[in-house]
Amino acid sequence: MPVATKSAPVATAPVSASDGLNGRARSAEGAQGTMVAFNGHRRTPPPINEPIRSYAPGTAERAELKARLESMANEVVDIPIVIDGREIRTGDTANVVMPHAHQHVLGQWHAATVSHVAQAIDAAERARADWGNWPFEERAGVFLRAAELLSTRYRATLNAATMLGQSKTAFQAEVDAACELADFWRFNVHFAETLYADQPISDKGIWNQTDYRPLEGFIYAVTPFNFTAIGGNLSTAPALMGNTVLWKPSATAMLSAHYIMQILTESGLPPGVINFLPGDPIAISNAALSHRDFAGLHFTGSTNVFNMMWKQIGANTSSYRSYPRIVGETGGKDFIVAHHTADVEALAVAIGRGGFEYQGQKCSACSRAIVEAPIYDAFITKLLERIAKLTVGDPAANHYLGPVINKAALDSMLRYIEIGKKEGRLLAGGKAPATADGGYFLEPTVIADVAPNAVISQEEIFGPVLALVKVASFEEGLKVVNNTEYGLTGSIYSTDREKLNIARREFHVGNLYFNRKCTGAMVGAHPFGGFNMSGTDSKAGGPDYLPLFTQSKSVAEKL
Ligand code: NAD
Repeated sequence: MPVATKSAPVATAPVSASDGLNGRARSAEGAQGTMVAFNGHRRTPPPINEPIRSYAPGTAERAELKARLESMANEVVDIPIVIDGREIRTGDTANVVMPHAHQHVLGQWHAATVSHVAQAIDAAERARADWGNWPFEERAGVFLRAAELLSTRYRATLNAATMLGQSKTAFQAEVDAACELADFWRFNVHFAETLYADQPISDKGIWNQTDYRPLEGFIYAVTPFNFTAIGGNLSTAPALMGNTVLWKPSATAMLSAHYIMQILTESGLPPGVINFLPGDPIAISNAALSHRDFAGLHFTGSTNVFNMMWKQIGANTSSYRSYPRIVGETGGKDFIVAHHTADVEALAVAIGRGGFEYQGQKCSACSRAIVEAPIYDAFITKLLERIAKLTVGDPAANHYLGPVINKAALDSMLRYIEIGKKEGRLLAGGKAPATADGGYFLEPTVIADVAPNAVISQEEIFGPVLALVKVASFEEGLKVVNNTEYGLTGSIYSTDREKLNIARREFHVGNLYFNRKCTGAMVGAHPFGGFNMSGTDSKAGGPDYLPLFTQSKSVAEKL
């Protein structure tokens, strides 16, 4: 394979004194022997959720986004590997295409080889010594700056990349790429500050302290296609805590990932802190997971892939320097349960949105509606009325459903629909409409009268396919909710307080919602993570997340 490398301007690290101690005990000497240069306990700005813009006709944000969509559609972006701040082009490239018009090429990314993984690990190790010693406030400044750049100058670019490269509507791109990612960057800074302030009590004559340190090696971040914000969060959250990272992005979210790297570089992230490795997931993962300095996996994606990586880590344990942290959020078979007191209209709206926004390609998407018999038929009527209004087409042209991400995904969904047609009654959809531009479109599909143990009630389809399960009573519904291998999100619609209470106790999910849809978790408000085979319940967007990427040293000093 031809290997041509080209050096890019290297981001310069802000010059600062290094104290190496993350924690409030700041009067000690730093790792380099230099005293802390700044006296003053600096507080970071209180985080607020980034306001969602409307993109209504006539607004400035709409005009800006439209212009960026047009310019981006006319570019072919060259996406390099980034190691130690250097851009590397191997010439072994793959195309970034629009899923809604897949002959339209938006860019080409250069594939990393195993030798690039080795280079990236070396770069991460070199950068770790310095970055881990930066005072927290200096690291925080990089990500606060990134959030500011994203919510202003880069907003239209990252939204457009998410709309064109991952086929989101303007609204879905805005809540993901602009708002959620800016929220992760700002709230994580706040959560880190709060964590460092958490110090043990001291007694007379003794001063007890906790020093929150980065892990002993690099973090390997592997990210999915369906949320731009997850790509940006998984690569940066460990870095905020002083770690260095190898980031393997998804092949089908490459354009947005590339712009995230640009934002971080422009924000002053030093070279080597996050190394960007597009390429063959198996070869790259094998090289990363078998390295002695591998200190943690930060994964979001399907359950099967995570299970494989977990096994691989288990098999390699004796060759590591330390026990690696394994943090993974995975698949779901999420549900809405409808008690007979539910408002049928509200329920149909919730399922229309929770099941079909972004074509059901959210880990939290509602793929099972479990409905009590007395309202089952009335609910179906309302749901079908709603679904009849959902149009399918180019998401930038205001269609409710765009395409699914690629041909393999579409083929898999069509196979599930064939199975589902035998397991239940097809009420809507089921077909993949052909379009002039090509595009992996699938109609919103509803299959009723499905048994709780049917394949389409059990397996994650990850597309716009909803199974309706009719239950005779709430008690029967209770048996259905927990009968899959997953436990990510669930929702109950009921006006009966006692039933909400039972759901709180019995529904075995990481994120539970009362009388609202099962998607749309917000950073800071709804820390997100699943039970069972839906993940390690790491609760991204909450205060318990960042400690996963630190090791704490308890220090006691006799005075
Ligand atoms: P995926 O598992 O196909 O890919 C995820 C990442 O793993 C990608 O970077 C991919 O390149 C890599 N990968 C794929 N095969 C690999 C292998 N054999 N070895 C190493 N790495 C490999 O998932 P996806 O299609 O990108 O995303 C959809 C899945 O992610 C769904 O299952 C969804 O439920 C899940 N998801 C979960 C959450 C959550 O918070 N629980 C959030 C988003 C997505």
